Amino acid sequence: MRHAKFGQIGSFLTGGIVISTFLIGLFCYFTFVHTCPTLLPVVVETEHFRVHATNVKQAACMAAIAEHALARIKAEILIDSPEIDSKVDVFIWPSQKDFHQAIASSDISNAGVSQLILAENGRLMRRIDMAASAPAEFVLPHEITHLIIGQLDIRRRNNGQPAIPLALHEGIAILAEGKCNDELLMKAGMALDCIAENGCESASESIARFDRLLNTNDYGTLSDSCNFYAESYSLAEYLMTELKPEGLSRLMTSLGDGLSIDAALQKTICDESDAFKHNLIKKWHAHARNNTSALIAMR
Ligand SMILES: [Zn+2]
Repeated sequence: MRHAKFGQIGSFLTGGIVISTFLIGLFCYFTFVHTCPTLLPVVVETEHFRVHATNVKQAACMAAIAEHALARIKAEILIDSPEIDSKVDVFIWPSQKDFHQAIASSDISNAGVSQLILAENGRLMRRIDMAASAPAEFVLPHEITHLIIGQLDIRRRNNGQPAIPLALHEGIAILAEGKCNDELLMKAGMALDCIAENGCESASESIARFDRLLNTNDYGTLSDSCNFYAESYSLAEYLMTELKPEGLSRLMTSLGDGLSIDAALQKTICDESDAFKHNLIKKWHAHARNNTSALIAMR
């Protein structure tokens, strides 16, 4: 009996210890492990990037993609852009969960995020987070472009100017991905065709629509993000075709210098007439429709 009794108490105590240990384990997991992103043990540095990843091969590969993307953007798209004067920290998270935890957000649909932080000592800190499963050859140039344009934005903010339109940020960032995004061009062209089918817009209506696109400065207020990205890309693609990298860079430099978007556009396209904006919109829409027709013909 004593044995039995002892045995029962012993079993009870042993079971309690096991359960307690299990519960403490659960507590520790959800408090310290589950809520913290995986630590990235490897850092590989190149001229402009400091890549944090889970292994050397991955970090070196991402660093090479990032350096190549930066060189291409500076040679072919934003040719007079300001220098990146401090290394960009790039974090390659092993899972989507780690990625979202690292950026403290779960409602971001894309696989990369860039941040430009102005430290109190006036130094710019640059950071890109992305999931390892994301297509780095597109995500990295996209986010690097945001960092470059963001630097111009900081100059505007220091001059008390509103931010560079989100449509230019996103349109040029998609352009910098380095592939022709047929899907977005098609969507933009069809949206513009839809306007034409429903009756030609008056000049004032098309200008109001254009202004709405360029006055959007908050992702949270996008009512139709698909069309916003499509039209932004279509506009950037048109500006690149029309102005070439030299003109596009002049436009961005003018914005960085503090000009309003209207003044910067008018100066860059060299149209001093009062109808410069309507003229630009007509040419852009015609270009977008031509793109759509060409894409349909290729199918
Ligand atoms: Zn973007």
